[in-house]
Amino acid sequence: MRGGSVAVVGGSIAGCAAALAASRGGAERITVFERADARLRDRGVGIGVHDARYAELRDAGYMADEMPWAPLNRRVWSVRDGDAEHGRAIGTQPFPFRAYNWGSLWSELRRRVPETATYRAGAKVEAVEQDADGVTVRLADGEPERFDLVIGADGYRSVVREAMYPGTGAAYAGYIGWRGTSPDVSGLPSDGLDAHNITFPGGHCMAYRIPDGSGGHRLNWVLYTAPPRIDGLHPDLRTPTSLPPGRLNAELTEHLRALVAEHFPPFWAAKLLSTPAETTFIQPIYDLDVPRYATDRMVLIGDAASVARPHLGAGSVKALQDATALEAAWVAGESWKEILEGYHAARGPVGTAMVGLARRMGSAQVEETPDWSAMGQAEFDAWWQEQNNGSDRRSGFGGHSLKSS
Ligand SMILES: Cc1cc2nc3c(=O)[nH]c(=O)nc-3n(C[C@H](O)[C@H](O)[C@H](O)COP(=O)(O)OP(=O)(O)OC[C@H]3O[C@@H](n4cnc5c(N)ncnc54)[C@H](O)[C@@H]3O)c2cc1C
Repeated sequence: MRGGSVAVVGGSIAGCAAALAASRGGAERITVFERADARLRDRGVGIGVHDARYAELRDAGYMADEMPWAPLNRRVWSVRDGDAEHGRAIGTQPFPFRAYNWGSLWSELRRRVPETATYRAGAKVEAVEQDADGVTVRLADGEPERFDLVIGADGYRSVVREAMYPGTGAAYAGYIGWRGTSPDVSGLPSDGLDAHNITFPGGHCMAYRIPDGSGGHRLNWVLYTAPPRIDGLHPDLRTPTSLPPGRLNAELTEHLRALVAEHFPPFWAAKLLSTPAETTFIQPIYDLDVPRYATDRMVLIGDAASVARPHLGAGSVKALQDATALEAAWVAGESWKEILEGYHAARGPVGTAMVGLARRMGSAQVEETPDWSAMGQAEFDAWWQEQNNGSDRRSGFGGHSLKSS
C-alpha cells in the first residue's frame, strides 16, 4: 500500500528505524516526535549485537559496517578466588558479538532517517486517540495533529501503548542494573576481545569494551542484583524509571560499592570502583508484553511493544528486526488492516518468546543464583543449557534469527 500519513512517537533506536521502514513501505508523510531536545542525551552505554543478527540486519539495510563497533569473541564467567587478580574462571562460552556505543549507533540510525521525513526534537506527545479514519496526536504544546497511522516507538513508558492497553505497564522484575562506563580500559585480559561476567551470590556483573565514539574505547559494565530494602528509596523502583547520576540514593550506592569490594576479584573491583560517579546510573529491570503489537491504526515497535530483561543482549536487535518486519508487511499489505496483521503475526510471538527466555535467564543469573564457586566448565555448561531449554525455542540468546520468524 502506498501513501498515507504516519506519526512515529519516539526518535531513539526503534523510532529512527520505524521512520526508515515507513518510508521504504511507501508512506507519503512521516513525522517523528521525540520529546528530547535536538540531540538525544548520549547514554554512552554499550549495546551488544550478535554477529549473525548483525549480518541479517545489514542485509535488510538497517545496520552497516561503518557504524563504529568493537569485536567480542568469548565470554568468561568468573568468581572471586582470594587475592587472585582476575579470580577463577568457572566457565567460558563463545560470544560472537559486536559491541556498540549507544550514542554512535543512534547517530548512525538518525542519519538514515529519510530526508522526506520530519524529525521534530523537543516534541512531547501527551496522548494519542484513535477513531475510524485515523489517529489524533496531542502534543504537550501545539495544536492536535491528524495521521492515518501512529507508530509507538516511545519505549517502555509508551503513551501509544497506554492508549491501546490502558494500565498495561512494565512490571518490575525485583532487581536493578547498576551501569557505568569508564575510560580506563588498561590491562583488559585478551586485549579486550573477551566479555567478562563476574559472579557473586545474588547476581553478576557483565563488563566489556565498547567504542568511545572518537576512535578509542571505554569499559562498559552492568551489575545486576536486588537492591537492599531501604526506606524511601526514591523514586519507587516499581514505577518505570531510571536513576541518573546525581540522583542515586547514597545508601544504595554504598551498598553496591561494598558488594563489589567484598565479592569481586581485585582487578574488576578496582575497575568498577574507579568508574567516575557521573558515568554511573541505575536502571530497574522490567518485564513487559502486550496481547497484540497492533490495533486498528496504532502499532508498537521496540521497547514500547515488549521488554525482555537485558540478559538476552537483544533489545536493540529486536527493535531493528521489528522495523524490518514492519517494512515487509507494508510492502506486502494492501490496506492498513493487512499491514498491521502481517506485522503482528511476524513479531508478536517473537516478543513473547523473548520475554519468557529472558525471565528464565534472570531467574538463573540473578534471582536464584547457583553456588558459582562450586562450578567448573561442566557444571557451568549444564546450568547454561537449562536456561535455554524452555518450552518455546523460537528465540534464543542474542535474539532469534529473522529467517525463523
Ligand atoms: C541494562 C540494559 C542493558 C541492555 N543491553 C542491551 C544489549 O546488550 N543489546 C541490545 O540489543 N539491547 C540492550 N538493551 C536494550 C536496549 O537498550 C533497548 O531495547 C533498545 O534501545 C530499544 O530502544 P527503543 O527505541 O525501543 O526505546 P528507547 O531507547 O527507550 O526510546 C524511546 C524514545 O521515545 C522517546 N519518548 C518517550 N515518550 C515520549 C513521548 N511521550 N513523546 C515523544 N517522545 C517520547 C524517548 O525520549 C526516547 O528517545 C539493554 C537494556 C538495558 C536496560
